[in-house]
Amino acid sequence: MRPPSDNRAVSSLFRVFGAGEPRVAGDVEERASRQGMHRHETAVFAVLFPLTIWVATSGPLAAMAGPFLGCLLAVPVTLLVMQLLPFILAVRSQPDQWRLWLTVCLLWAVMQCGAGGWAGMFAYFWIALAVLEIAADGVLFWRECMRWSGAPGIAWRVGLFVIPHGMVMVAAFKWGWPWFFAGGGLLAAMFCSWILSPYSQVLGPVIRSTDGERILITIDDGPDPHDTPLLLDLLDRHDTKAIFFMIGEKVLAHPDLAREVVRRGHEIGNHTLTHPQARFWCAGPSRTRREIEECQKIIRGVTGNAPRYFRAPVGHRNLFTHPVANELGLAVMSWNRRGFDAVEKDPGKVLSRILPDLAKGDIVLLHEATPIAVEVLNGVLDRIPHACGKAPAG
Ligand SMILES: [Zn+2]
Repeated sequence: MRPPSDNRAVSSLFRVFGAGEPRVAGDVEERASRQGMHRHETAVFAVLFPLTIWVATSGPLAAMAGPFLGCLLAVPVTLLVMQLLPFILAVRSQPDQWRLWLTVCLLWAVMQCGAGGWAGMFAYFWIALAVLEIAADGVLFWRECMRWSGAPGIAWRVGLFVIPHGMVMVAAFKWGWPWFFAGGGLLAAMFCSWILSPYSQVLGPVIRSTDGERILITIDDGPDPHDTPLLLDLLDRHDTKAIFFMIGEKVLAHPDLAREVVRRGHEIGNHTLTHPQARFWCAGPSRTRREIEECQKIIRGVTGNAPRYFRAPVGHRNLFTHPVANELGLAVMSWNRRGFDAVEKDPGKVLSRILPDLAKGDIVLLHEATPIAVEVLNGVLDRIPHACGKAPAG
């Protein structure tokens, strides 16, 4: 499942910085299968590339045939170059054509550096654009690295953690302790924001909304002998399917409930073996693997279905969540709507946080095993009758 996006860019530049950018990894291989281009890319292809070729050719032609005739002759020459060069170099795909023209314009720009007038202005424009393209390539490379699974993904993340901390230590040793506190504080703030935010895409791709037409209900922390049967009846009455993110130990304790959830057409997601909500964010690779892998085995053993989605306890992932989840074929799912129903006692307050502006594609986070679980689900389903559909295809 992909997050919603209208970004059809063929270049790294517009893929990363263009509007509609989904800001998740996996863009590189998707790019090849996409048709069309980003709307701003179309303008660059249709106007800026030809204009630059025209500026580049009109100078020498004007020197040979005079200013007016030179500028006029540069028009057919530009059209010919734009058609012939990709043909001669056998550059057919749109991403390759983008790279070809950017390279051509950059080479010309480097030669024009320091020149005045239009040519000089265009030269600086292309150099800036090339720098942005390289930065965008760096962002896409980072995202690809964040998709590595298993041991390579874990090793990469250990390096990611150790290398900047080592650099801070070296800086502190060389230039004094203020560097240690400034660098350490900056690193701590960065890593905390990546790990503790359920929405951060830096450590790996997280599904925060769907590209479906409906609203997706997700219910965490079950199964629960009191709540699960009531929630299932409620969902049936509203002809709605949900994803239940279940805790492995609870599935072992109530296997019939887990089977009943599947029998009624809902999906079960992996929510760790023991739900270590206070410690999961700082868990090492082996603890992370045990929590996710054991839960996966239990759910598959009890229901016959292996979960497709993983949700971290309270949304706190650690450095090793994504490599382990990727290895087990699990997509990490977060949410974009929640009412803090696990701690709030008033269902009205929970609903007032969830319901306003609820829109198609939203993923709603609810909990069971709370005193208000049934009231909250009832309130959500009452407001959006038949709006919730089956779990998205993986
Ligand atoms: Zn939970």
